[in-house]
Amino acid sequence: MSSQTHEFKAEVAALLNLVTNSLYTNSEIFLRELVSNAADALDKARYQALVDSEFAGKELEPHILITIDKQAETLRIEDTGIGMTREEATQNLGTIAHSGTLNYLQEVQRARAAGEVTEASELSLIGQFGVGFYSSFMIADEVVVNTLSGKPGSEAVVWRSKGDGSYEIEPGQRQTRGTSIELKLKSDAKEFLDRWRVEGLIKRYSNYVMHPIRLRVIDEQGEDKDPEPKQINAAAAIWAQSTSELEDSDYQEFYKHLMGGFVLPGDEPFARLHFSADAPIQFHALLFVPGRAPADLFQEDRKALQLYARRVMVMENCDTLLPQYLRFIRGVVDSEDLPLNVSREMLQEHKSLAAIRRQLTRKSLKLLAELADEDAEKYAKLWNEFGAVLKEGLHTDGGQRKELTELLRYRSIADDEGGLISLAAYVEAMGEDQKNIWYIAGPDETALRNSPHLEAVRAKGENVLLMSDPVDEWVLQSLAEYEGKAFRSVTQGELDEPAEDDDADKDDDADKDKDDDADKDDDADKDKREPSPIDPLINMAKVVLGARVRDVRASKRLTESPSCLVDPAGGLSRNMERILRMAQP
Ligand code: ADP
Ligand code: MG
Repeated sequence: MSSQTHEFKAEVAALLNLVTNSLYTNSEIFLRELVSNAADALDKARYQALVDSEFAGKELEPHILITIDKQAETLRIEDTGIGMTREEATQNLGTIAHSGTLNYLQEVQRARAAGEVTEASELSLIGQFGVGFYSSFMIADEVVVNTLSGKPGSEAVVWRSKGDGSYEIEPGQRQTRGTSIELKLKSDAKEFLDRWRVEGLIKRYSNYVMHPIRLRVIDEQGEDKDPEPKQINAAAAIWAQSTSELEDSDYQEFYKHLMGGFVLPGDEPFARLHFSADAPIQFHALLFVPGRAPADLFQEDRKALQLYARRVMVMENCDTLLPQYLRFIRGVVDSEDLPLNVSREMLQEHKSLAAIRRQLTRKSLKLLAELADEDAEKYAKLWNEFGAVLKEGLHTDGGQRKELTELLRYRSIADDEGGLISLAAYVEAMGEDQKNIWYIAGPDETALRNSPHLEAVRAKGENVLLMSDPVDEWVLQSLAEYEGKAFRSVTQGELDEPAEDDDADKDDDADKDKDDDADKDDDADKDKREPSPIDPLINMAKVVLGARVRDVRASKRLTESPSCLVDPAGGLSRNMERILRMAQP
């Protein structure tokens, strides 16, 4: 094998260009990225050693060694992890394998074009997507990777690049399994030769990396200042500790770590859940409800809970641990009872996993209910971020219908400020005469608030729920009623008759319709039976509108507006029709 020069794939070249030329503000994140890669490599090695008896270097102690070399002006991050074969180095370091980075590229390009890039937004974008290995080119003129894979028969390789469009790959000297990444620091990045700077960054970003991270400094004269490098991270699995041993600040630190190193002020988690279970399955769980909806909430390959088996990470994004409608929850689950050598498919069907999922679901819903009880203001914020996702559960999870129903919140005409109301509070406030839970649905909340359909209900002092989320009416279809009160749209049918009364008769027998109505509303009795002065107007409207309407009638629902369109009782509401039309291919 000889030295070969390769061109980077186009998207890598584009990313490198972006990384080297624009992301100055957050250059320090390179260290977090390289340490996390090293930690991943250690996890993979531990796993591989368990499932492959031929795997080399089983005697190696898993650790990460960071060497500051002030004489050579380099920073080296070295691990005893899985290493890379020549093919793997070419594949993993020469292409962008994961879609997250591509998303990041696109998002940055979009934000730049729109002039939206600020330091904070750039920071949170990197936090969400991660630029990974390529972030090293923010601070290095040249990156040299020395690696030896643990796969039987592997040979050491060296990968090097100046981040300028090409990389070289050649045979290497490395004797022990693992990888070292050497960074030749740029002239304006010499700060990373400072011991305290590096140690501070490790504590900030990588404290909970579960493997020891050690720091060693070689001074300007080439003298090794740390013959026995000391560990600088905590390396404890916080989720396996007892809650009484932990402070709020421990959780905050861990959450930051979990979210990729960044939590902007105001984005702190809404709630957390930390518990251990022993029966029927042993596991630890540490879950957080994030303070802001992640950008990938509606994406296929979004982040999910991390799954560990006996401290070995077996899956980074395990989306079967919680139902889809709780997919915004982030955290870690670690079980003693899971096999290590399982495929993603096997894991989906694993009995233990189903048991864990049941407990996590139940406890998560309870956590949300408690928050709703204890801190309505905070819960309102949570609802604004994740309400749309939670609502999906009413369609998909019949088993949790009761719990989910209590979590629903709506804006209503009783609150002009946009405050939220629960169904329990709505029913509680209902007067004795009010039989239904009123709602009005449509795409635009302001338009709903101004709808003439509200006039009669408002005049009676009754509240109406505003449903402007496209899924709201779907949700109602699976709810139908709450505490024995039916949901009824104020745009549907006559206001004082129950929705079931509708039938085809209404079309050709408007008089009977009126009789029904009159039975129920004695006050209006006389006006209705006698010919009204408004009849000629109605007849004219019928002629003009023709087949475009089913009927034209005098109405009691209006107190100010002269006319409005009404949905036939029991039929599809216009909003629903609109949604169905949109859903058609
Ligand atoms: P990600 O970590 O999200 O996969 P990165 O850009 O950080 O993306 O790394 C790209 C790939 O390079 C990794 O997935 C891994 O296969 C490989 N890699 C990087 N660093 C190491 C390392 N220290 N040991 C082994 N493989 C590594
Ligand atoms: Mg990485």
